[in-house]
Amino acid sequence: MTKPNRQGEVWVFAEQQDGQLHDVSLELCGRARLLANQLGVTMGVILPGNNVESLASTLIAHGADNVYVVDCPRLAQFTTLPYARAVCALIDKYHPQIVIYGATPLGRDLAPRVASEMRSGMTADCTDLQIENVIDPKTKTEHENLLLQIRPAFGGNIIATIVNYDQWPQMATVREGVMPLLPADANRTGRVIRENVEISEALMAVRVLERHVEQRKVNLKASRIIVAGGGGIGSRENFELIYELAGVLGGVVGASRAAVDSGFIGKEHQIGQTGTTVRPALYVAVGISGAIQHRAGMEESAKIIAVNTDPEAPIFSIAHYGIVGDYADVLPKMIKAIRTRNL
Ligand SMILES: Cc1cc2nc3c(=O)[nH]c(=O)nc-3n(C[C@H](O)[C@H](O)[C@H](O)COP(=O)(O)OP(=O)(O)OC[C@H]3O[C@@H](n4cnc5c(N)ncnc54)[C@H](O)[C@@H]3O)c2cc1C
Repeated sequence: MTKPNRQGEVWVFAEQQDGQLHDVSLELCGRARLLANQLGVTMGVILPGNNVESLASTLIAHGADNVYVVDCPRLAQFTTLPYARAVCALIDKYHPQIVIYGATPLGRDLAPRVASEMRSGMTADCTDLQIENVIDPKTKTEHENLLLQIRPAFGGNIIATIVNYDQWPQMATVREGVMPLLPADANRTGRVIRENVEISEALMAVRVLERHVEQRKVNLKASRIIVAGGGGIGSRENFELIYELAGVLGGVVGASRAAVDSGFIGKEHQIGQTGTTVRPALYVAVGISGAIQHRAGMEESAKIIAVNTDPEAPIFSIAHYGIVGDYADVLPKMIKAIRTRNL
């Protein structure tokens, strides 16, 4: 455990695979930059891997002041112990005040391991991060500029704000798509710092013999238009209309958990708290009630159109345009109108 270092940097763990940076790392750079500005400190990125130094310029363009590169053949593939060693060694050396990771399978594996070794706190799956002064209700002591680690709790029914008074660094994982990806600035300058961390043979307990990478069947996050179907669609066959509307709009198909759990569509299409978080230009919610866990994954969409038979459905409270009606009547009309306009 490290004592609070108020001059410490705000850090992002840069996740990469085969020399390709994960989008979430760049999203986190944008938020870390804002947090660092607010705290009046510099922003750093830890970049472990093998032959990864060329990625530093992208991280600097996205807001990093310092990129700490730990380049080592033993870090070519992610395994928990060597990566945790690299991160812990740098935390021990530089004492950052905040470290954030993507809540990807890799980040969810690595961050708790680092927290355990550093004896610090860690909040998983945050949906927001802010800086504020906090009064400890027990001791009435005021703690300045703490990281508010904000996430849904109790099945999404409440939003919890978690703070860490003194078991620093303050650490959190953040889900992909939650923080907006800020534009890169190719004119930004920063420092690339090469770090040597000893990765001993004993840490190579797990060896990756083969990797099978399954390509994403649907890229919800990258889509500007999403047509999502819910439990109200009623069957896998009826989802054809959702596909048809998505097709004429040039979008992709999303779904609520009820639709996924009922077997209407695959889990990779699920949007919401336990699915993907999206912020497209247009989100069409069809036969979706608008439960809080679904809204958590789509309410930042620029324009929302809802189609629902129930005028009291909560989805209408966040929709920009609402159509009260049966999707089986409404969607064919929408499809026809769009086709006619596109002719
Ligand atoms: C821990 C936890 C995590 C969760 N994570 C997620 C998540 O990631 N994503 C998610 O979506 N949910 C999630 N849920 C589930 C969530 O609480 C809701 O149960 C789910 O979103 C409901 O989906 P739905 O609105 O499509 O279905 P329903 O609740 O069945 O609603 C169907 C809607 O369709 C309307 N309808 C019915 N017939 C028609 C018709 N013919 N035409 C038009 N409209 C019609 C109805 O009026 C109703 O509003 C989670 C729940 C928990 C507890």
